[in-house]
Amino acid sequence: MIKTLAVMTSGGDSPGMNAAVRAVVRRALDRGMGVYGIYSGYDGLLRGAELIKPLSWHDVGDVLQRGGTFLGTARCEQFRSVEGRRRAVENILERGIEALVVIGGDGSLTGALLLSTEWSEHTQTIASLRPELKEVVERAPMLQVMGLPGSIDNDLCGTDMAIGVDTALNHIVGAIDDLSSTAASHQRTFIIETMGRNCGYLSLAATLATGASWMLIPECCLELHWHQRMVECLDKARKAGRRHQMVVIAEGARHPDGLRMESGEVGKILHEKLGIEVRLTVLGHVQRGGPPSAFDRVLSARLGVAAVDRLLDEPDVVHRHMVGVRKNRVVSTPLSEVIEKSREIQTLIESGDFAKARELRGEAFGTMLELVEALMAPCPSREAGGEGSVVLMTGGADSPGMNAAISIAARRLLDRGVQVLGSRDEFSGLVHGDLRVLEWNDLAGWMGRPSSDIGTARSSQVLEDFGKIAANIRRFNVKGIIAIGGLDTYRHIQRLAEMRAQFAEFNIPVVLVPASIDNNLPGSDLCIGSDTALNNIVDAVDKIRDTAGATRRAFIVETMGKQCGFLAAMAALAAGADKAYLPETGMSLAELNRDVSELRKSFESGNRMVIYMRNEDASRHYTTDFLRRLLEEESKDEFEVRSVVLGHVQRGGSPTAFDRILAGRIGAGAAGALLELMKNGSDEVLAFGLQDGAVASCPLSEALDRMDAAHGRPREQWFMDLCAFIPSLAKSRPCCRETTGSANSQTSAAKLSAAGR
Ligand code: ADP
Repeated sequence: MIKTLAVMTSGGDSPGMNAAVRAVVRRALDRGMGVYGIYSGYDGLLRGAELIKPLSWHDVGDVLQRGGTFLGTARCEQFRSVEGRRRAVENILERGIEALVVIGGDGSLTGALLLSTEWSEHTQTIASLRPELKEVVERAPMLQVMGLPGSIDNDLCGTDMAIGVDTALNHIVGAIDDLSSTAASHQRTFIIETMGRNCGYLSLAATLATGASWMLIPECCLELHWHQRMVECLDKARKAGRRHQMVVIAEGARHPDGLRMESGEVGKILHEKLGIEVRLTVLGHVQRGGPPSAFDRVLSARLGVAAVDRLLDEPDVVHRHMVGVRKNRVVSTPLSEVIEKSREIQTLIESGDFAKARELRGEAFGTMLELVEALMAPCPSREAGGEGSVVLMTGGADSPGMNAAISIAARRLLDRGVQVLGSRDEFSGLVHGDLRVLEWNDLAGWMGRPSSDIGTARSSQVLEDFGKIAANIRRFNVKGIIAIGGLDTYRHIQRLAEMRAQFAEFNIPVVLVPASIDNNLPGSDLCIGSDTALNNIVDAVDKIRDTAGATRRAFIVETMGKQCGFLAAMAALAAGADKAYLPETGMSLAELNRDVSELRKSFESGNRMVIYMRNEDASRHYTTDFLRRLLEEESKDEFEVRSVVLGHVQRGGSPTAFDRILAGRIGAGAAGALLELMKNGSDEVLAFGLQDGAVASCPLSEALDRMDAAHGRPREQWFMDLCAFIPSLAKSRPCCRETTGSANSQTSAAKLSAAGR
């Protein structure tokens, strides 16, 4: 079994690297290993001495919410040489390090692979030059290496998302939103340059998430007259009433001849051809900075834990792998494959083979590109044909991203010549004939708006006014419905379908889109709005941490979620809380007793703040207030206890990039499926969602069968598997655990780590 492991960050920094280091360190300590932190990337590994230090449980406290990497990162030319790597091997040998976890981009992973494959060569040379290390060399036949993808560009194969991408995307989307308001005031056109030298993912996703007018990325094949197309499109949109336009350009975008494109020259073309004011904003390094998003923190925790577990649980495997996440599952891919495929795409782009490069980026990239290209058009490709309309509605408690789902689903339908009507407040609009005509150019601006512009107020009328609904379906020639909402909306649609025998008008296809911050809907691993709510909670907990001061304080933070523990559990993982009380697992007196004694021990061992997340429905009787009073009574004035109920702030604000893209993907899928059903004269009712990373659907009845009806949540919930990580990564764990692993290690440096520093 591996006894000593080292972890480092290398290459360009990315938000979430700290969270990944924390997960690696704590999981390794928890499983009895000794851990070294290597400071300044390969430079530190090569120079050794104080740059390779044992890390304890508390050394990775309070780093989760910090951007960048506390270990530091550097570029190291010397490591590219055989001699440089041999120095690194000596440092590794001297400390008895048996496994190395490297968090970085393709350069860093290449370095890690080389180190592992050249290991024997280096150790033999070292043994011949330094006979005193001969024994050590004999005990170290190989170096296991595990890579974690850390790159904001998302240019690594073997993972759908790299650590830092989601945070960077949120920065870009936030900046475009902010620029849009000033652009609209002055009727200006903005050019926004994003990072992404070899990969257009950030620009592509930001264009989708903001409804930008035009995009230029390395994977796009530009024909010779590309600027004419761009100018015509922007001009048409302006004449059709778009007050401002945003053009997103990736720093690696190229001319058809392969030469890099300058953002300034794009601005010049637009100014000269259209006579408009154009402003250029190069986003630069703000994209890398700041606290990691909830998604990046959870991803880092999952990958960090998986890297350590695989090293320990698969002792017979030669580990030269990268752990990544594909289709929402942690997978490992040989480093050689990751590096080779990632490089191949770069070569294809450089040689102008854009089609092949796009193909290798994967299906999701291709689908998103197709969607963005259709949405960038200045007007629908077809006029509304008068063959009927589709009604869009949003229902239940509002959730961020509903407007984004309406925007994309509606534009998909308008593009096929279908008239789209927004029903006010779910079914109320259909009952009262209050239907709003939705138009192409207005809708582009809906992507970032909070909540739903057509209203979500609960409409109990659906249970009474079927006659009026049927009359309006006839009157407005409604051929299909897209309903975006929570469980009540699902049930209302089911009720409508049950009334088909009495109302022939209801024999039209209906498609459901899951939107609920609670993430409690069937047929979708994630619901629109849940990522925004999670980030709102994590932001709040970060702020609560800042209030710690010098006192010892226990905080209980109550989240929404009804009978689904998604928000409380994921927030606990992302914000580094010590525990999550969930409705799925309930609360018991025996457990509370244990928690009280753990809490006391934790403060005794030097912790200053302990945070418990509690879902609002975790227990009917052991409420948040009860818990606060219980802990206060048991504190014996040794620590303070505070509780906070986050309430509706969780639902508010502009949707995150993740929610907008999710809304876009599911909304587009739902609209496409509805068009198909309408064409075939079908009256199916389908529930759409994201399953295993792909947009999928099933009949509504089947989806509802997957529900635990008594508790209003799906019977199977993927995130419950991650709950075990919460206590094993929690900050307040007694510090005794840091002594276990490296105490057994053979080197003096490892014993230093055992001393607990
Ligand atoms: P990233 O990991 O973000 O792609 P770089 O490409 O700059 O960043 O790589 C980071 C470091 O990894 C380099 O400074 C170098 O020390 C090491 N490295 C990169 N490529 C190689 C290589 N081909 N051989 C050995 N080491 C490499």
